[in-house]
Amino acid sequence: MVLHQMKNKDKKIYTCPMHSEVESGKGGKCPKCKMDLVKVKAESVNSGGKFKKSTLNIKLQNIVISAFLLSLIWFLWVVWYKVIPHKTPDVHYHAGFIVVKDNRQENFADFKFMKFEPCTVDNGNNHQESEEDKQLEKAHLHDNIGDVVHVERNGAKWKDLFTNIKYGLNYSEAEAYINGNKVSGFQNRPIEAYDSLVVFIGTRNDFDQFLSKTVTREHIQEAESKDEGYGGH
Ligand SMILES: [Zn+2]
Ligand SMILES: [Zn+2]
Repeated sequence: MVLHQMKNKDKKIYTCPMHSEVESGKGGKCPKCKMDLVKVKAESVNSGGKFKKSTLNIKLQNIVISAFLLSLIWFLWVVWYKVIPHKTPDVHYHAGFIVVKDNRQENFADFKFMKFEPCTVDNGNNHQESEEDKQLEKAHLHDNIGDVVHVERNGAKWKDLFTNIKYGLNYSEAEAYINGNKVSGFQNRPIEAYDSLVVFIGTRNDFDQFLSKTVTREHIQEAESKDEGYGGH
């Protein structure tokens, strides 16, 4: 009797992890789901209820572990996006520019070119800003000053300025000078602090007059003194 029990205990049978009713004396695939059958001790199958209970426990355990991992991921996500403030680097600098069309300087001192809302670089909630706000922060005008561009986000290029003030500029026919040097593809150049850009479009023959009128560092610094949001002076 004892011997028989021992033999029975040693005997291995195979069952499907998903379908405990499937039993087989040798390995193979479950006819129901084609999963590989797994080896179990005959004893646990013989006392049927016990085996069912243990698979139930395993399933329950999996659910608990999955739920725990999901809530951990959710928790980390909340901490990362909502609790830790994601500041963009505190960029705020200025440069000068003029546009000369048909030998006349364009006037951007009009209110329609200005950004009135205060810049929101410091609020620590930049991930909630719209793409439009982010674009506008790159380059804009303030204080009714039409020749000083404010850069308040990294990666600003000159074309961002003209995009944001909605000034249609045919870059391929423009001729541009930065700090007195003729440059090609100026629209894709980064705006650097105290740069001075002169763009000629249309008929042009009086370069010297306008190149001598480029926005000076003194003029930019004067604009900075009126710039409420500017802490860099
Ligand atoms: Zn600004
Ligand atoms: Zn500014």
